[in-house]
Amino acid sequence: MSDRLKPETLAAQALGWLEEPFKGLAPPIHPATTYEREPDGSYPTGKDYSRDSNPSYEQVEAVLAALENGAASLVFGSGMAAAIAVFQALRPGDHVVAPEVMYWGLRKWLNEFAVPWGLSVDYVPAGDMRALSKALEPGRTKLVWAETPANPTWDVTDIAAVAEAAHAAGAYLAVDSTVATPAVTRPLELGADIVMHSATKYLNGHSDVVAGALVTANTDDFWTSICMNRAKGGAVLGPFESWLLLRGMRTLYIRVRTACASAQAIAEHFDGHPRIEAVLYPGLKSHPGHEIAMRQMQGGFGGMLSIRFTGGEASAMKVAANLKVFKRATSLGGVESLVEHRASIEGPDSPVPPDLLRFSVGIEDTGDLIDDIEQAIRNL
Ligand code: PLP
Repeated sequence: MSDRLKPETLAAQALGWLEEPFKGLAPPIHPATTYEREPDGSYPTGKDYSRDSNPSYEQVEAVLAALENGAASLVFGSGMAAAIAVFQALRPGDHVVAPEVMYWGLRKWLNEFAVPWGLSVDYVPAGDMRALSKALEPGRTKLVWAETPANPTWDVTDIAAVAEAAHAAGAYLAVDSTVATPAVTRPLELGADIVMHSATKYLNGHSDVVAGALVTANTDDFWTSICMNRAKGGAVLGPFESWLLLRGMRTLYIRVRTACASAQAIAEHFDGHPRIEAVLYPGLKSHPGHEIAMRQMQGGFGGMLSIRFTGGEASAMKVAANLKVFKRATSLGGVESLVEHRASIEGPDSPVPPDLLRFSVGIEDTGDLIDDIEQAIRNL
């Protein structure tokens, strides 16, 4: 299919593949773990063992590389496995700069595994360019990790500015773009070296696959080391999960745009509500990252928002308990709307305020979602 087609078309048709030999519109699932050699010992199809590669991974990877405008992509058994593969391509003694507000599971892994293994990690406030520039140690900093919008305050990081600063210091920039998705932001086009996704979220979109993905701007030695990590470490995605992920990705754009429009409407509706302390959403003019978001997010500001309630933790917990349409569940990016009290999930070290509820907006009717939050607040 032509490169000039829009990403929406490439995603909907999964690059236009047809299954051979019957020309089916849906790809087959390739369950084989191993492949027969020729009598001379060669593997003419290039396939020998599914921990290294499988046609089912390759279809998803090709679509994702096209959507992110990258040189290559790898899918993993989870978002965490994808992120960890990037850090494991570093060497003990290397310095990393990461945001204070980021996916908490990765922060925990960095502190409990990466630091004892020998990485030196400095945290800076998400999106704070001055703090980032101060933390960079030219020659020693090998990786800047960014997450934008950052979970769950939705702080926005200026990817182009961070890429310039990271590269000037001799470091790579990797961006967790799980929440933005390629439907909203394409970090590689803004100068990032690697994009990471928890594909469990919007890319799959149906809360039925745990998966992760990386897309790279360049197939350099760093990327080769990441590929080796997956092939030898084995954090691969099963063929059936790869198939489900590809199926979910075909509707990515329409799902994300619907979620973005609803999240914007919910944010505007509840901004200034007397029982609400603050609505955190990059699409609101009052959000500190709004101006940068206007530049680097297209088609909406994401489907995630957080609300801080007057009355503190008790009010937040009661609102969550009162919700009927929003499901009280962890995760995000599915077709169904979810709510979560992040501070109690993350534990005592969490930087998340206890009065905050995180909302993942799905594709239900916007009015139903607004009414649900209204009744939950009314019944406080
Ligand atoms: N990054 C973000 C922003 C996430 O929200 C999550 C999971 O919640 C992850 C990474 C980790 O992904 P996974 O749960 O697929 O391992």
